[in-house]
Amino acid sequence: MKILIASAEAAPFAKAGGLADVAGALLIELNKRGIDARLIMPLYRGIKSRHQLKAVGGELTVNVGQKNIRGRLLALDDRVYFLECGELFDRKEIYGTEVGEYQDNAFRFVFYSRVLLEACDMIGFVPDVIHCNDWQAALVPLYLKTIYKGRFKSTSTLLTIHNLGYQGIFPPSAMPLTGLPFEFFNHDVMEFYGNVNFLKAGIVTADRVSTVSVNYATEILTEQNGFGLDGVLNKRADGIVGITNGIDYNEWDPATDSALAFNYSAVDLAAKKKCKDKLAAVSGFSNKTAPIMAMISRIVSQKGFDIFIAAVDNLLSLGINIVVLGKGDEGIQKKLREAGKRHQGSFSLHLEHDEPLARAIYAGADMMLIPSLYEPCGLTQLIAMRYATVPIARATGGLVDTISDYDHIKGIGTGFMFSGYNPSALEECVKRALAVHVDAKRWRALMRRCMGMDFSWDSPVDKYIRLYESMAVGGPR
Ligand code: ADP
Repeated sequence: MKILIASAEAAPFAKAGGLADVAGALLIELNKRGIDARLIMPLYRGIKSRHQLKAVGGELTVNVGQKNIRGRLLALDDRVYFLECGELFDRKEIYGTEVGEYQDNAFRFVFYSRVLLEACDMIGFVPDVIHCNDWQAALVPLYLKTIYKGRFKSTSTLLTIHNLGYQGIFPPSAMPLTGLPFEFFNHDVMEFYGNVNFLKAGIVTADRVSTVSVNYATEILTEQNGFGLDGVLNKRADGIVGITNGIDYNEWDPATDSALAFNYSAVDLAAKKKCKDKLAAVSGFSNKTAPIMAMISRIVSQKGFDIFIAAVDNLLSLGINIVVLGKGDEGIQKKLREAGKRHQGSFSLHLEHDEPLARAIYAGADMMLIPSLYEPCGLTQLIAMRYATVPIARATGGLVDTISDYDHIKGIGTGFMFSGYNPSALEECVKRALAVHVDAKRWRALMRRCMGMDFSWDSPVDKYIRLYESMAVGGPR
């Protein structure tokens, strides 16, 4: 079976969030199972200097809004390809800077979606399934049914929604960029309250649609979590498939992680304590033995920063240390900086993207806080559990599928969960966790239960393969 993964991000090449982890891991896992899976993604700044790439074939040209845009295909090996187009992708960030999203994102990802099909043609790769991820690749299914109809007759498309909050919504002036007939700018395909909606086009035209956890697959059908697309999603007679993400167990392993000062496993957790001591020292915490609660997250409102910031003074009065690593919204960052100033010695703030630091925090923290307003799947809780760091999370989306609430009587559970989206529900939940943390024996058992969970890609990749197979047999809709 031949699978093309179309994703705007993939680890370890370029990452803004969980989409990158998923695309990168899925590629590896599919290839391990003998499937000819390939990835084509944009060549962002920095990739070329870190990897040895070889140009493949000649120039690729796509017309975007009356302009001929030229690109080139570069290969890392026979699985990983990059589309080079300096004017569109050689930039400081992937989607935008602190000032805002790049103004030409519609242009950039129309080019990406079309040029990747040209690239397939050029290398003679005819996928059975193109696995399109998020809005950046969501026009591909519609292109296959229109402009590229004659060229990919046997190729089906799967659209995976990693986060319905990001749809690729652009003003009507983006329509001519797509090269699609204007008749598609209607309510049934890609018009959305007067604008163009790339994700909607994908939901309507892909052969199958999936999302990244079982619970989120049902949540997005509701008005509350549907971001205006619940009606369109409900109209899909074949339903939305929910496949809960995994994490790459080789990439994320406290026993071998070279970013850690000390490695550890479930059998011997003593070195986790050393990782904690080191984290406490580098964070400059006054009380070096207090429990450390961490947040590692894009700094956006989805991640629950408003209730965290409202609760932070009370949380710190419970005698804990807090470390936050993240990057994003300047308004939220300003409030976090203010909290940092109020609580020097117990609140450590890192407003950056720093993978080695993230790893040191996963290992050194006692608890990982994930108070999300909504969470399609969430990877931080999975990584945290792998590193014996107990999640404290809001009961939403994939967090519900992957964490079970601690039950003192039965001695079960892998974390602490709260439902209400408010600071006091968060606080109460943290108190509940701290009450268990004082009992070292119980806490150790809880850490071991977390580490004993299997969030590897073994099971999700089986599900993706079955889905691809069912699609390949049926052919395009
Ligand atoms: P999302 O995709 O919504 O950002 P996920 O929980 O699915 O959230 O994935 C987040 C991923 O990004 C995790 O691998 C997490 O460790 C990583 N991450 C988030 N913020 C940072 C940061 N500032 N530095 C390093 N890694 C980060």
